[in-house]
Amino acid sequence: MFKINLGSFEDSAEFSYELKKSDVTFEGLDFEDGLSINLTVTKDSDDSLVVIGDISGSIDLTCGRCLDGYKQPVESHFVSIFKERQSITPDDEENDVLPYDKNKLDLFDCLRETLLLEVPLKPLCREKCLGICPVCGKNQNIEKCNCDKTIKTEETFRPFSGLDL
Ligand SMILES: [Zn+2]
Ligand SMILES: [Zn+2]
Repeated sequence: MFKINLGSFEDSAEFSYELKKSDVTFEGLDFEDGLSINLTVTKDSDDSLVVIGDISGSIDLTCGRCLDGYKQPVESHFVSIFKERQSITPDDEENDVLPYDKNKLDLFDCLRETLLLEVPLKPLCREKCLGICPVCGKNQNIEKCNCDKTIKTEETFRPFSGLDL
């Protein structure tokens, strides 16, 4: 998957993938509903390749506040430069130029990393996720409980409030 034979086209070629969950495993990423990937690979004059890609669909994440699973929409556009492995210089590396071998371009890592960038640092199922009740543990987005959370919060954040310090 995502291995492109560079001998199979002249200047530029387009590749489309409709990914199902069962097709490929991107470690650390779940996409139950599949992903659409469109790629244009263009050969540049000096053995370098320009890859322009679009990824769309959704990835499955766990909300950091209510611990529920949710779907995060993905609309990712990226441009990557590849050079043949032997001709990559330290300068290239600094500029995020990626290697390819002989006539084979392997886009797996590039796609995986592009997708990982879509994962937020603090995943939230919705902007105003109400989280889990610290008293009864119910998901407040689904069911509002009547627990007295004010007392619990004070106890949690002022552990010495009862002491005369
Ligand atoms: Zn949530
Ligand atoms: Zn509760």
